[in-house]
Amino acid sequence: MTLRTIESLGSLQGKRVIVRCDLNVPLEDGRITDDGRVRASLPTLQALLAQGARVVVVSHLGRPDGAPDPRYSLSPVAARLGELLEAPVAFSADTVGDAATSAVAGLNNGEIVVLENLRFNPGETAKSDDERMAFAHELATLGDAFVSDGFGVVHRKQASVYDLASVLPSAAGLLIATELDVLDRLTEKPESPYTVVLGGSKVSDKLGVIGHLLPRVDSLLIGGGMLFTFLAAQGHSVGASLLESDQLDTVRGYLDEAERLGVKLILPTDIVVASKFGADADHVVASAHAIEDTPFGSAGLGLDIGPDSAEAFARVIRSSKTVFWNGPMGVFELAPFADGTRTVARALTDVDGLSVVGGGDSAAAVRILGFNDDQFGHISTGGGASLEYLEGKRLPGLEVLGWQ
Ligand code: ATP
Repeated sequence: MTLRTIESLGSLQGKRVIVRCDLNVPLEDGRITDDGRVRASLPTLQALLAQGARVVVVSHLGRPDGAPDPRYSLSPVAARLGELLEAPVAFSADTVGDAATSAVAGLNNGEIVVLENLRFNPGETAKSDDERMAFAHELATLGDAFVSDGFGVVHRKQASVYDLASVLPSAAGLLIATELDVLDRLTEKPESPYTVVLGGSKVSDKLGVIGHLLPRVDSLLIGGGMLFTFLAAQGHSVGASLLESDQLDTVRGYLDEAERLGVKLILPTDIVVASKFGADADHVVASAHAIEDTPFGSAGLGLDIGPDSAEAFARVIRSSKTVFWNGPMGVFELAPFADGTRTVARALTDVDGLSVVGGGDSAAAVRILGFNDDQFGHISTGGGASLEYLEGKRLPGLEVLGWQ
């Protein structure tokens, strides 16, 4: 069975439609540094508004602790959405309850409201099915139908992603459909050479996918935080860099498996090592096998792949026909550690074939570093979700919409 589409919901004119978007954008002092996820949400919202639906947008932002926290308010995002839609967007300071009910009741056909951050409510991410379902029922009082379009969260069993879809008539939005089209091109006979580039900071999440990707790819390039667990698995010291010691055996297994399958698993040969975490840190380029031999000794922190490695990665990427990249190569938010990510991004723009950037942070990185979306085959809004899809995992937020 394929995903239920918006058309399957029938006429939505005058209906209150709750849309689960992923508006989890990077913010700096209340300013949105990359509005890619807001832009990606537009097609579904515009289609519903054009039909005369009363649109109720819900989303999370960041990781507040199940309670209101002004740092994670969706209010600036609602304002940006209004600019992009060129239409008034109402905002409710509560996700559910009286304020939300009256904000939704105030909508006319073809009008839109954004409700405050879902994760200000403990029920959204609760482990207990009952707690999540109770919150989903509260949300459901605000809508007649539900459209799920937050691709970045479909791998999460959360109230607004999973439970709500079983309470109201539900369907997948246009963003989810587009994302899955592209990911299917990466899984169904991708043209070779096929290269996957992995980086970022969620090390254990991403280590898990490597086993699934190895049999499918020609080259696997490893940067970002996880590279240090690989170097450590090869017996090298990594100073104070990110390291998941409990994954060393798993990683050794991957190194052996890659060799057995003839996959080129390529690790950086040089690393930008810093004295501390910060833009003003002293930093030097060191051999990946001598990270502790810098003036910073065992306190040295690997924050980017070095220039030789970045060039080597770029050569492999440019000669590939299919490339999937998830996770920045270094701490690109700090200028001295952005070069590896920039070089890899530039190489992706040169690919003569399909190039896909997957992940909220990777997508933000390419935009913040000055690249345009149209220089890539596709920029996905979800890192974890796209990786789990490529792994062939069952994604709860898709299964509940009819996907098998
Ligand atoms: P998402 O899963 O949210 O869509 P993503 O998959 O694009 O995101 P993340 O795993 O969240 O990416 O990782 C991005 C973060 O990784 C960036 O904030 C970056 O600073 C950090 N990072 C990259 N390299 C390193 C490193 N060597 N040490 C510490 N952090 C790093």
